[in-house]
Amino acid sequence: MKPDAVRRSFPVVYLRGKLPKGSRLVSFQPTHYNSGMNAIEFWSAWIPKAMRLARHRALLLLAVLTCISLSCQGENSEAPSLAVLPTTSNPTPRKVQEKPLAGQTTAAPRFDGERAYHYLRKICSFGNRRSGSLGMRQQQQLVDKHFQELGGEVQYQRFRIKHPVTGERVPLANLIVHWQSEAKERILLCAHYDSRPFPDREADPRRRKEGVFLGANDGASGVAVLMELGHHVGSLPKHFGLDFVLFDAEEFVFEERLGNYFIGSRWFATQYVKNPPKYRYVAGVLLDMVGDEKLSIYQERYSATWPDTRPIVKEIWDTASRLGVDEFIPQIGYPEAIRDDHLPLHQIAKIPVCDVIDFEYPGPRNRYWHTTADAPGRCSAESLGKVGWVIYEWLASKR
Ligand SMILES: [Zn+2]
Repeated sequence: MKPDAVRRSFPVVYLRGKLPKGSRLVSFQPTHYNSGMNAIEFWSAWIPKAMRLARHRALLLLAVLTCISLSCQGENSEAPSLAVLPTTSNPTPRKVQEKPLAGQTTAAPRFDGERAYHYLRKICSFGNRRSGSLGMRQQQQLVDKHFQELGGEVQYQRFRIKHPVTGERVPLANLIVHWQSEAKERILLCAHYDSRPFPDREADPRRRKEGVFLGANDGASGVAVLMELGHHVGSLPKHFGLDFVLFDAEEFVFEERLGNYFIGSRWFATQYVKNPPKYRYVAGVLLDMVGDEKLSIYQERYSATWPDTRPIVKEIWDTASRLGVDEFIPQIGYPEAIRDDHLPLHQIAKIPVCDVIDFEYPGPRNRYWHTTADAPGRCSAESLGKVGWVIYEWLASKR
């Protein structure tokens, strides 16, 4: 992925509901101190004891306590049922309450950012995952097994290309996971799962050649969100089918002019046109660089301006706003439109796919991008969780 000229803690179990603006969900706060009782239960438990001490005093006490109880109850009905802390600190994420929030159904699924982050670390443990590498094959085994165990139908779209440096044939494979495969109208969620061969934006020329590019954010983050989302597909409305597609060779690029971009997505788009399937994609979202611990997701310029993707962008950013996920910033950002896998999908296959990408990693200079600094420690469970939660809720709204 590249810009048009080149390219950018909540605990971590997400529940349905809205977060107070600028707040961080930390833990469930019982309604009355830590007793687990509400105000009336708390005081009622003490009334018999008081009556034994002095009956006439108890009557007086009862009157006083009733007043206190009513006023506490009034406060409680206003108070959020979640502890809210300023977002400046970086606390160890903790799991939150199992109880549903007010107005939430007990069947609400939980998008577990912590588990998504575990997947990200596992993917990065394979090292660099450029197309055709051992790391890529190990990742394929992990992801294939993962989605099959969750009930997805896994399919590979295999083809070969010529290595731009050695001239050898390189086996490539897009990995497709079908959910509810009989549905004729489908939603496409995608990410690239290869990593750039080298950290070629390192300042030191030796590190550019010898450093290991892990692609925790640029590569693993989108895959990790989809792996976690796989746990929740069953609770989504059944109106649309859903496909996850992991693209190979998004950046099989050894130097800026040696190699190519979007090879896997271009192949996928071309096959969609040449051998049209019995279904069609009505909407799609590409997830790329969504794990930065300093998450800020502006709208990507192409996605926010193409007539067929603009409504999808609006729906997703509206969903984030409804949930109180302020990291989705409802304006076009980044100096350039971003060239990414959504381009071939849109231009060749005419599938309306928008790019959800945080192209400020960690800030506007994007200095971790394509360097050895793009490692799991620069990503967070919180960010993965927020993105996954928004995408889940957007899917849930597509009825
Ligand atoms: Zn990249």
